[in-house]
Amino acid sequence: MGSHVCDRILADGNEVVAVDNLITGSAKNIKHLEGKSGFQFIEHDMTVERDYGGKFDCVIHMASLASPRHYYAHPIKTLESGSTGTQRMLDLVVRDNARFLLTSTSECYGDPEIHPQVETYWGNVNPVGLRSCYDESKRYAEAITMAYHRVHGARTTIARIFNTYGPRMALDDGRVVPAFIDQALRGEPLTIFGDGSQTRSFCYSRDLVDGLMKLLFSEERYPVNLGNPREMTILEFAHYIRDAVNPGLPLKFEPLPQDDPKRRRPDIGKAKKVLGWEPRVPLEEGIRETIAYFRDHS
Ligand code: UDP
Repeated sequence: MGSHVCDRILADGNEVVAVDNLITGSAKNIKHLEGKSGFQFIEHDMTVERDYGGKFDCVIHMASLASPRHYYAHPIKTLESGSTGTQRMLDLVVRDNARFLLTSTSECYGDPEIHPQVETYWGNVNPVGLRSCYDESKRYAEAITMAYHRVHGARTTIARIFNTYGPRMALDDGRVVPAFIDQALRGEPLTIFGDGSQTRSFCYSRDLVDGLMKLLFSEERYPVNLGNPREMTILEFAHYIRDAVNPGLPLKFEPLPQDDPKRRRPDIGKAKKVLGWEPRVPLEEGIRETIAYFRDHS
């Protein structure tokens, strides 16, 4: 997502300094920007203090390990990016009187008891479970963002991002969209965790970038859900990918990971009202583009 945001910032005629320690991100995703005027890349762990040079109009904090596979493997780094990392970015925001966008998550709602999830819902998070390193790091990130707004008057915004997919995801990322497409392209069985009755709602990366930019330049200080409200079960999604890529492949059922949310769908009423935003790319089109990307890059 970071590389897509860079593309958008540059296309809008602005300059961007991208920072990534490449723990899960890939330098290949910004290769096309190398040497482009207005673009600079710094390979660095943003939880470690440093001077990025210059004065910034905006700070967008997207650093995290967003795939369950990655945050299970690096729980401490995940917590640090939400805690220390967020505070470092907020200090920069205060120094430069910049606008701030925190990319938070639907995981703040945990395994939700309210459906669809609306921003006023406080969530149902297991604070000591396997997912807690991600959920609680983002919840803390939201809390410290609000504290900097209240104490320093910082111009902060918070996006709660629901499942997003699109080109440039890593095939071995572990999340369900690249996992199913990768398996289907290889002719392997699609691995469904649990019985596949859990639901998700998938938003295309281009739509998300648009929502993030609108939010960054808004005056809304409280969290805003950004996602696509079209909800489907994981079993339905597996059938959809299989039929699109390699009909006839078997499905393989594996144990459901701990605390895997049973239902997830954003209520995007606030995004529509406050930002005039809603997703435009239908799943069929987004998945077609994503499959084409993975065919070219596998
Ligand atoms: N999932 C699955 N097979 C996979 C990867 C994920 O059935 O190979 C399920 C997972 O258990 C969850 C949903 O798909 O219910 C979405 O998982 P993902 O890791 O993409 O993101 P999450 O919504 O859990 O953060």
